[in-house]
Amino acid sequence: MAKIHVLDEHIANQIAAGEVVERPASVVKELVENAIDAGSTRIEVSVEEGGLQSIRVKDNGSGIEPEDCETAFYRHATSKIASGRDLFLITSLGFRGEALASIAAVSKLTLLTASEDDGKGRVLDIEGGRLIRNEDAACGKGSDLSVRELFYNTPARLKYMKSIQTELGHISDAMYRMALAHPDISFTLQHNSNQLLHTLGNGDLLQVIAAVYGTSAAKAMLPVSAEDPDFRISGYISRPEWTRSNRNAVTTLVGGRYVRSNGLNAAIMRAYHTLLPINRYPLLVLKLEMHPSLVDVNVHPAKLEVRFSKEPELYGFVEQQLRSLLMGQSLIPRPTKEI
Ligand code: ADP
Ligand code: MG
Repeated sequence: MAKIHVLDEHIANQIAAGEVVERPASVVKELVENAIDAGSTRIEVSVEEGGLQSIRVKDNGSGIEPEDCETAFYRHATSKIASGRDLFLITSLGFRGEALASIAAVSKLTLLTASEDDGKGRVLDIEGGRLIRNEDAACGKGSDLSVRELFYNTPARLKYMKSIQTELGHISDAMYRMALAHPDISFTLQHNSNQLLHTLGNGDLLQVIAAVYGTSAAKAMLPVSAEDPDFRISGYISRPEWTRSNRNAVTTLVGGRYVRSNGLNAAIMRAYHTLLPINRYPLLVLKLEMHPSLVDVNVHPAKLEVRFSKEPELYGFVEQQLRSLLMGQSLIPRPTKEI
């Protein structure tokens, strides 16, 4: 008798959810990335109890067409790539078509969305991956997605959640990085009715740095802008005399996305070598631009890690540009742009 069978779609989605949805912050990141991909200029996030009770992301982007609403929650359903060739030229944040299916599989979710400004939208309720309601509803253009009781049907995963403060810390961190990556979008983050972040969306990165790290940090920044035939870097780096006790204020951005790269971090630390006291770290927001064919974002399900095809050249370029900027600075703070 045959012993091998294909798993039921709901179980398959729950298993896949384990990779994409690790904790509340992963839900926030995926939903906000969808809002960014939808061309939103204002994204409001509110969470309760560290996101374990509820996560709501409201945007003013393109919305979802009524006939696409259900499909959007199928696994591998995406509007962002159409063929295998597109995989090598990705310009959107999402492309796997996995986030909505995964989130819906492990929560109770409501989507309210409209793709036109005629007040005619759609509302969907999904619980544990099962569609409960899909009907017309009045709403303005954009999407409003609420996720409640994350992991309510996967107790093993729920058990691994940390304290509300820890989960909230991860959410804030994800929000900060996305706000830093998109100064042209206005972001707000609210936790149990406390406002934790508000950015204006006027395109001024230094103002976002001030909103995230405080005004004194923003005043200690040096602007960076350099390019060679393959790469362009821009953003802000802290003067050596302004330091932090932890290394998580280094935000490297590729293709509008925060990426973690040990090689890049090492290049940055080499640029600051001997200029920082031991165990002190800089604050950086560094945007790297290159042709999409020079970077592979299809390495990691959460897309945090990327692979560069000209690694030594990129690291060398970053180190050299930052080093010469830092060495050119006198160590006496100078007045910077007013913020
Ligand atoms: P991906 O982002 O990889 O395409 P998702 O599962 O995150 O996959 O989303 C599936 C599809 O649903 C997207 O391709 C997009 O067409 C649509 N979608 C999701 N969120 C939004 C949103 N906030 N606004 C407009 N469309 C959205
Ligand atoms: Mg997505």
